[in-house]
Amino acid sequence: MKIAIRMDDITADMNWDNFLALKAVFDKYHCRPLIGVVPDNQDENLRVAAPREDFWEYLKELEKDGWVIAQHGCKHQYTTKKGGLFPLNRFSEYAGVSLEEQKRLISHGKKKLEEKGITTDIFMPPGHTFDKNTLKALKDCGFSFLTDGFGKKPYCREGLTFLPVSARKKGCLRDKKGYTTLVIHANAMKPSEILWYERMLAEYPEKFISYRELLAVPGEKRSPAGNLAEYIQAAGKRILVKLMLLFRS
Ligand SMILES: [Zn+2]
Repeated sequence: MKIAIRMDDITADMNWDNFLALKAVFDKYHCRPLIGVVPDNQDENLRVAAPREDFWEYLKELEKDGWVIAQHGCKHQYTTKKGGLFPLNRFSEYAGVSLEEQKRLISHGKKKLEEKGITTDIFMPPGHTFDKNTLKALKDCGFSFLTDGFGKKPYCREGLTFLPVSARKKGCLRDKKGYTTLVIHANAMKPSEILWYERMLAEYPEKFISYRELLAVPGEKRSPAGNLAEYIQAAGKRILVKLMLLFRS
């Protein structure tokens, strides 16, 4: 299985120590990730360090170097308790919100990025949650890709290409065929987790690919049964995580 990397919650005031430590690892193995940039961040939890003054210029440098940028929502504010079509979580900036409001949020975020000279047609929904209206709104706003969903290859749904994420971090290293994305939230990462990536890239360099390579893989048609299986898997994973937290506490 080929593995691409995505890094969520990219803001000017993110945890730069962790971000740069991971970047050094990815640079060493020539692995260029996808980064999800929050266009108009209003989420206090994402304010971790002093803001980097040259943030937007720095993003453009990364892009020139082969990194890929996605729009990570708009304000990163969870206003509903809905899981939508991919219920990994029961909170969302989009699922359960009217189509008009979703379009307004998505186009506001897109405009904010464009004002900084960044254009992208890849969307990364905060909390992994979205609904049918999100997919409509994304198409209307000119997006082509969504980084989320489960599967072993990019697939097409509602006129968008979905780039699946990994359900099991260690399992995808054992799988032989297909493509997936490992999701990184660098803000809260422990040094041991960063070390895990360093070890995996050193041990399996042939498995890791740059995100641009994943984007070039054509999306397969997805059946309604495939969509249902994905929904059940996401809901099951949410319940499992909840139970694990319950037993640990
Ligand atoms: Zn996020």
